[in-house]
Amino acid sequence: MFEREISKLLNKGFNWYDDLFGKYDVKILKDVVNKELSGKGKFIICFPEKLEELFQEYYFLKSINRTRIMLIFGIFVYIFFGLADYILFPNMYKDLWGIRALTIAAITPAVFFIFTGRRYTAVYFVYSIIAVTAGLSIIGMMSVIMPHESQIYYAGIFLVIFFLYTLSGIPFLYTSISSTIIIALYFIIDIFFLHSGYKYLVSNMFFLTSANIMGLIGGYILEYYVRKDFLLSLKIYLDKKDLESLTKKLKHLSNYDELTGLANRRKLKEFFERELKRAVREKFPISVLMIDIDYFKSYNDYYGHIKGDSILKEIGKVISNHARRPTDIAGRWGGEEFIMVLSNINKKQASALAEDLHRDILNRNIKHEFSPTGRLTVSIGGYTEIPDNTRTMDEFINRADKALYKAKSAGRNSIVLLNGSEI
Ligand code: GH3
Ligand code: MG
Ligand code: MG
Repeated sequence: MFEREISKLLNKGFNWYDDLFGKYDVKILKDVVNKELSGKGKFIICFPEKLEELFQEYYFLKSINRTRIMLIFGIFVYIFFGLADYILFPNMYKDLWGIRALTIAAITPAVFFIFTGRRYTAVYFVYSIIAVTAGLSIIGMMSVIMPHESQIYYAGIFLVIFFLYTLSGIPFLYTSISSTIIIALYFIIDIFFLHSGYKYLVSNMFFLTSANIMGLIGGYILEYYVRKDFLLSLKIYLDKKDLESLTKKLKHLSNYDELTGLANRRKLKEFFERELKRAVREKFPISVLMIDIDYFKSYNDYYGHIKGDSILKEIGKVISNHARRPTDIAGRWGGEEFIMVLSNINKKQASALAEDLHRDILNRNIKHEFSPTGRLTVSIGGYTEIPDNTRTMDEFINRADKALYKAKSAGRNSIVLLNGSEI
């Protein structure tokens, strides 16, 4: 049972929670919830403002259907008592029915409002009016019946109070206020109009007040647990949100290089393996480019590591701008070495891309005192092949690395691309 509730909460329920809680600042909400749950809050009957608002909305959404059904049930019970009128007071039942009919007519618009209202405060307020009207109508019926026999119907006031505290489903604040109003009204009306007599009045007031106090305590305890339940489910929701964003961060961290934001080795390998399989199946070429910054050690030594980092970022950005198709990927292989995996690109296309990229970097005109050209340059080595199913990713990379070595040996700032037959 509990597990089912939790899984409901975790799956379907959370869309609902997103609608409800999404508009609040998660951080603030978390602080308040933790404070309330740890007992340091002012959680007696009311949460701090925003949380209280949220609780009321939550409670309303959760309980309004039951509240509506129970109201209809209460009205049926009220009508059903017409039978008691008929049996108990055969010569007066018409007057009593008259009061019942009048009451029903009076509360009909209010009942309609309960079924259509969206604002919880308004709905609860109107509900309280219905309850007080029901109480009044019972007092009215007592006045119709002979003074002492009227005590028979006094129990009806109990029923209304009992109904309010147990079945109505409206918050404790409203049930307690409307019950107290009903009892106060009875007291006043009895003194001025009913004249039940001293003994009846005293005993009735004792019973009603005690019932109300019991209702108050019971209602408070009930709402305390509802509020606690709300806090706990809100906490689960917030923890889940935390976990989601943490997972997202972690996933990003495990796939992307922190400095440049490019794909890291893990992500590159994953992508490469997938495209390799596809290339074997569909017999298309794969090109790999290794891009290495020339004389980067001396750049770092002269300009400092921080400046070196910003250059890595800049170069990374230029490289990733050249990975345009969804089947291209640019990543940082390590240090000042980058890789591009270009799926379904032949040597000629790869060569054009490498030249473009090389020129783009050169055109950045990044000053480098210790480079023979006076600016920052890169060397690019590449390898292209239509792989068969024996070809591994490592072999591809080794061959591109070999080409890069050739480019470096050729004096750097150059491009060497190889294909299967040139190895
Ligand atoms: P070559 O032209 O042969 O490529 O020489 P190089 O100096 O570029 O190559 P080498 O492998 O000797 O040095 C690579 C340097 O890259 C060493 C290090 O200072 C620098 N480097 C590696 N990773 C980082 C990094 O994350 N940030 C910075 N700022 N520098 C890095
Ligand atoms: Mg280098
Ligand atoms: Mg290097």
